[in-house]
Amino acid sequence: MSDLYEAQTIAIARQLWAASQESRNFFSQLREQMRIEDKLLGWAMEHPGLRVQLFRLIDCLPSLRSKTEVARHLQEYLSDPSVELPEALKKLLNFAQPDSLPAQAAATTFTTAVQALAHKYIAGETTEQVLKTIGRLRKQGMLVTMDILGEAVITEVEAQQYCDRYLDLMQHLSPLGQREGINPVQVSVKLTAFYSQFDPLDVSGCRAKVGEPIRRLLHRAQELGVAVHFDMEQYTYKDITLAILKEILLEPEFRDRADIGLTLQAYLRDSYQDAQDLITWAQQRGTPITVRVVKGAYWDQEVIKAVQQDWPLPVYQHKQDTDANFERITELLLSHHTVLRTAIASHNVRSQARAIAIAQHQRIPPTAMECQVLYGMADKLAKALVDAGQTVRVYCPYGDLIPGMAYLIRRLLENTANSSFLRQQLGAVNIDELLAPPQPTADFGAGNVHVTTGKTSTFANAANSDYARASQREAIQAALIHVHRQLGQTYTPIINGDRVHPLEYSESLNPSQPEEIVGRVGLATIEDAEHAIRAAKAAQAQWQQTPVAERATLLRRAANLLEAQRHELVAWMCYEVGKVVAEGDAEVSEAVDFCRYYADEMERLSGGYDRNFPGETNHYHYQGRGIAVVISPWNFPLAIPTGMTVAALVSGNCTILKPADPAAVTAAKLAEILIAAGFPPGVFQFLPGRGSVIGPYLTKHPDVHLIAFTGSQEVGCRIIAEAAVLQRGQTHIKRVIAEMGGKNAIIIDESADLDQAVAGVVQSAFGYSGQKCSACSRVIVLESIYQPFVQRLVEATQSLNIGPAHLPSTRVGPVVTAAARDRIQEYIAKGQQEAELALSVPVPSVGYFVSPTIFTNVPPTATIAQEEIFGPVLAVLRAETFSQAIEIANATAYALTGGLYSRTPSHIQQAKVQFAVGNLYINRGITGAIVDRQPFGGFKLSGIGSKAGGRDYLLQFLEPRVITENVQRQGFAPIVGVDD
Ligand code: NAD
Repeated sequence: MSDLYEAQTIAIARQLWAASQESRNFFSQLREQMRIEDKLLGWAMEHPGLRVQLFRLIDCLPSLRSKTEVARHLQEYLSDPSVELPEALKKLLNFAQPDSLPAQAAATTFTTAVQALAHKYIAGETTEQVLKTIGRLRKQGMLVTMDILGEAVITEVEAQQYCDRYLDLMQHLSPLGQREGINPVQVSVKLTAFYSQFDPLDVSGCRAKVGEPIRRLLHRAQELGVAVHFDMEQYTYKDITLAILKEILLEPEFRDRADIGLTLQAYLRDSYQDAQDLITWAQQRGTPITVRVVKGAYWDQEVIKAVQQDWPLPVYQHKQDTDANFERITELLLSHHTVLRTAIASHNVRSQARAIAIAQHQRIPPTAMECQVLYGMADKLAKALVDAGQTVRVYCPYGDLIPGMAYLIRRLLENTANSSFLRQQLGAVNIDELLAPPQPTADFGAGNVHVTTGKTSTFANAANSDYARASQREAIQAALIHVHRQLGQTYTPIINGDRVHPLEYSESLNPSQPEEIVGRVGLATIEDAEHAIRAAKAAQAQWQQTPVAERATLLRRAANLLEAQRHELVAWMCYEVGKVVAEGDAEVSEAVDFCRYYADEMERLSGGYDRNFPGETNHYHYQGRGIAVVISPWNFPLAIPTGMTVAALVSGNCTILKPADPAAVTAAKLAEILIAAGFPPGVFQFLPGRGSVIGPYLTKHPDVHLIAFTGSQEVGCRIIAEAAVLQRGQTHIKRVIAEMGGKNAIIIDESADLDQAVAGVVQSAFGYSGQKCSACSRVIVLESIYQPFVQRLVEATQSLNIGPAHLPSTRVGPVVTAAARDRIQEYIAKGQQEAELALSVPVPSVGYFVSPTIFTNVPPTATIAQEEIFGPVLAVLRAETFSQAIEIANATAYALTGGLYSRTPSHIQQAKVQFAVGNLYINRGITGAIVDRQPFGGFKLSGIGSKAGGRDYLLQFLEPRVITENVQRQGFAPIVGVDD
């Protein structure tokens, strides 16, 4: 970094620092010391445990509808053992009952304090209030940019309202506006809020959807003399946001507009490159726009996402790297001030001083740069900047406090974070240190940084594709085209290494476009099944003797092959069973994980253990059971057959895979991969065929030792019964692993974050058209929020795009077959007799489509609340109390997955104990279990297996043995640890 500006930077920074530190008068200091809201922040800085609980409490506060509830939550959150309570807070919490008088008083005190805190950072709740704030700021010589606080836009109604609210706000701002030069009033908008289905995979769809409101807004803004600035949000939206804006701003009607801006976040590792690209683009455009440089407000979220997905970390890990990058971008932009204007948005005195020093040095015209601060965050710095002759704009969020909470929490985090300048300047940090140039770390120039912070397992899950990256979007599009050309081919059973050619074939159709034949699959006969069993029997002894390391190597090889063919496999699933791209991609990851995880697990188990005594050795170890038959469902056409098959193989069992008919082509692809990985003939065999014909033959066969089944409860129970019958010549008891259906519920209580709850329920209920055993098919809502929840749920579901699975815009594809469609329609007809139909939407006429359907006021005993429908049908049920909600949730024959949206610690605790499900998900969707992280499977009628992808799974495929040897000879045996 150039030193040209350093001396001046420090001089300006010192002046700004001095001016913004001017002492407050005695009374204001005294008043501030007495305000509880200030004390809250002070305590949060001193006590990390309190900070976490306090911010969580503030987050849920607006959802609480009575003082009693506030008091109850105050006590629940702050009595957590992790919280170190200052005396004053202890006193506040000292009440016995949440509905007592002292409790009500505490609730009032706390709510008032949080409101006061919010008012510090939120420029007003109404247009009148905000216009007053603008007036006050204007008197102080400051300009504004207005941000309307909003809930997450998850419905198209909300997207429309968002745009309308801005049009209305601009109307009010118009008298303060100006058509030329620096515009005193500006609005800041977010692209994702214009379209509820904003998704980086669907670039052209998003461009079309947001283009219309953007153009409307830009036209109207010009008429009203208000400038428009586009905010930047999470990293996943960055490239698509830039691409869409760059394109629109080159359109002839907008090309000469200088009153538009967009944002770069310096905490992003690729933001310097983005700045360079923007300069090139702006040169081509001809008229300057404004680039606001910020550090970035979603750091924690970005790190969490990157760690969870094992994606490269998009942000710098160290604050000084972000600061250094900020200065680098500042210098780059200011040196191109003829093509771009720059807005320096920071509360860091040095960052602002640096920009001013560069601007002065380069004699940049005042119109080419402005300084920006957030409302309420750095009032004194803003004033000092105005006094120093700078153009200062204040970013003013306004609107209701409830949607404002997310904003408030971000500000509170910033204000109390150890690394924040605002926090540091309050502390004992030496001024020279505080203003010194940021020293980049060794990590500054690094690309492709992966972090594992906070993980407690060493197992590395395969990373899903990140469709925010153009290369991965292009790869899946190419695969869809490539695979489409291969539709209609023929696949055969593979017995003892040979492809056999049966007389009968079944056609696997594309459910989005049933005239398309995905493939013809040969149907194995009973004779074929018998051949396969004989081949397996012949191969068994040698396979069982094959060292575990060799067997594990084959699994890892299969994992690599699956990963190498990731995009093609996604495309096959998309065409064969109507799975949308993102869901198919996650499924490939799961298949890969199963291979690697079970390879690791078998190696862990293979050593067994010893319990030796002097003169006696005892060795506990495992061996394969024998011949395994795997019977898989169609709904996870890759992951489930892979998981069951490789578990059986690595445990030393010769394995016959019988896939589900509607998914037999995808299974044939898996078979090709397993054979290519090196599983010998006889050890792995592929036996597509009619379940009702070869299924019973295989499961009843006396030479079969183990059946791994995943599918419906009806078939599962039949297999268990059949397997229990000893056949002639059978000298063992068969082991059956049966993972079956679910009737899964999500409970929503009053304290739930509705943005999250609605999105989570929609995804869990309608993702893959509800055809997951883990899908949400009941949502149980507490009376107090029933109405608002249902309204948003219906609108959000109505906003989903329904269409052929291969289109990037599709969120809900078809169901798998015509028979499935008809069966689901029968349930819908039944539902209409049992409850109120709240939503049904038109669906494409070609393909096996069923409308996402919502029934409300469903009685808990109704058929649609009890039976597994396996389609996009959701029953909404009411509950008076939380305990009743749990009772309703538990009142079915299944116990697979369940969910809870709540911010009430005691409810979360109660659900952990009482909600009877195999997999309970709290404050997130209930589908998408990940190997090792969420081992998966249920109990009651949902299954009798130990969780797939978990530590007990392989044990089911193994026989444990113990070998005891007396090693004493004539009273002699070496005794370890005793000298001769
Ligand atoms: P299904 O029971 O109809 O079929 C499953 C498999 O069993 C298929 O391969 C089929 O050909 C075979 N089959 C059918 N009749 C047979 C018989 N008499 N003997 C032996 N095999 C026979 O289930 P499906 O429609 O493929 O899958 C959907 C069901 O699977 C749902 O109930 C769902 O909840 C369940 N499922 C459960 C899990 C879980 O982990 N618990 C996971 C996925 C799916």
